[in-house]
Amino acid sequence: MTWNLYDRLLAGAASDQSICIEKDNGATLSYADLAALSGRIANLLAGSGIGPNHRVAAKVEKSVEALALYLATLRSGAAYLPLNTAYTAAETEYFIRDARPTLIVCGPRDEADLRAIAAKAGGRVETLDEQGHGSLIDAAAGLAADFDTVPRAKDDLAAILYTSGTTGRSKGAMLTHGNLVSNALTLVEQWRYSHRDILIHALPIYHIHGLFVAGNVTFAARARMLFMQKFDGERILAAMDRATVLMGVPTFYVRLLQSANLSKITTANMRLFVAGSAPLLAETHRDWKDRTGHEILERYGMTETGMIASNPYDGPRIPGSVGHPLPAVEIRIADPESGAILSTDEVGMIEVKGPNVFAGYWNMPDKTAAEFRLDGFFITGDLGKRDARGCLYIVGRGKDLIITGGFNVYPKEIETEIDAIPGVSESAVVGVPHADFGEGVTAAVVRSNGSAVDERSILEALSGRLAKFKQPKRVIFVDELPRNTMGKVQKNLLRERFADVYS
Ligand code: ATP
Ligand code: MG
Repeated sequence: MTWNLYDRLLAGAASDQSICIEKDNGATLSYADLAALSGRIANLLAGSGIGPNHRVAAKVEKSVEALALYLATLRSGAAYLPLNTAYTAAETEYFIRDARPTLIVCGPRDEADLRAIAAKAGGRVETLDEQGHGSLIDAAAGLAADFDTVPRAKDDLAAILYTSGTTGRSKGAMLTHGNLVSNALTLVEQWRYSHRDILIHALPIYHIHGLFVAGNVTFAARARMLFMQKFDGERILAAMDRATVLMGVPTFYVRLLQSANLSKITTANMRLFVAGSAPLLAETHRDWKDRTGHEILERYGMTETGMIASNPYDGPRIPGSVGHPLPAVEIRIADPESGAILSTDEVGMIEVKGPNVFAGYWNMPDKTAAEFRLDGFFITGDLGKRDARGCLYIVGRGKDLIITGGFNVYPKEIETEIDAIPGVSESAVVGVPHADFGEGVTAAVVRSNGSAVDERSILEALSGRLAKFKQPKRVIFVDELPRNTMGKVQKNLLRERFADVYS
């Protein structure tokens, strides 16, 4: 049997009249409509020679047609390569030169840039705008809706997804059909997804969260999605009376909590709130439960591995924990240097193995080799621990670990203490060069509205709560923490900004 993700998730969709997507304007698309649209685009791709061993890049705004392009690429046997729409021309050029796609689909605003890049790097350019119009759709419109999906094997490439670039330059993760099929089917089962579900889809579709977690899981269950162009809190709240599931980054939940319209009544029809891509504060988890009666289900994953761990659907969802490894996914906590396996409650590197783990970084054989142990475990770069029940806790990223005066300081521990101080909205703790200590613990703090909390009061509050070496040497107030589009705090930017604080 073929492993092509399209066949595994959407076989028979061509005759399925159930609704797959509802757009912001109320227009709907059935599974049959989506099959036909993706079939036309697949005919266009195949007709221009695109197939296995080719890549199709898309730097396009969120639209149903962009989703159809993703499915069409899978059907043609090529690999799909979505790019963050926020990338500058220079960044885009790097990705195109790195990935060498045969076809580049872009929005009209980027067309001139991409034509210039393609002239140097190769590749053809077509356009697709946020309304779903453009040369791609024009060219596909007259073609047949039927397309025989090209068979693919389990280890064949389905997509190259660039990581979010939170810790440095984004890396292209090569994901196979087998990776994506296994993760989608596991999540359908774990989260009790069914064709009765209606998902509020307000995430971007160039990232694993919106494309593979939200998209593939919905397809696999033949559920429906309310396809929203972007995050709009009031719109999401208004949709909850007929939706059943929301998948969001933690900032979604923080922002929804700010609305007076969030209540047990507005969320009464919802059965599942999922959070991931960045740490969900235990406080947010508790506030959400108080306001709505629902416990947010936090899960943990990364571009390279898909989803790794999830809190249970039935059973306790523990604030601050990302739950247990998914079925067939093995995790272990190891000493970052020696690789020795650590025991319960000890903090170390999270390593993972399973059918979800990617095939390596595109064009980076050395980096790939360096991130895998000899027995096949992938070194995630995230530090964490497991408690006696086996629950996994993420402590932070290895790259954010602070070593000060020879001691390890985990920023999350300090941030948790600072966040608990009245008058503090949120914080991020980083290590920056310090002549005596190597790195100085440095806190960026956002005050809550109207608060006059200052550096001295924060340091005083921490002095009884944290060992001396963990206490920040400086507290610097900022209006907001730098975050990327997935809501991840960009600590590298804070480190750059504070680089000279101790010099
Ligand atoms: P880059 O690898 O380019 O620096 P990135 O790691 O942010 O960027 P992604 O693959 O989008 O790129 O994100 C995966 C990372 O997100 C994980 O390694 C982890 O650090 C973080 N993450 C995901 N889910 C959670 C969660 N529930 N709690 C804490 N961190 C999470
Ligand atoms: Mg990463």
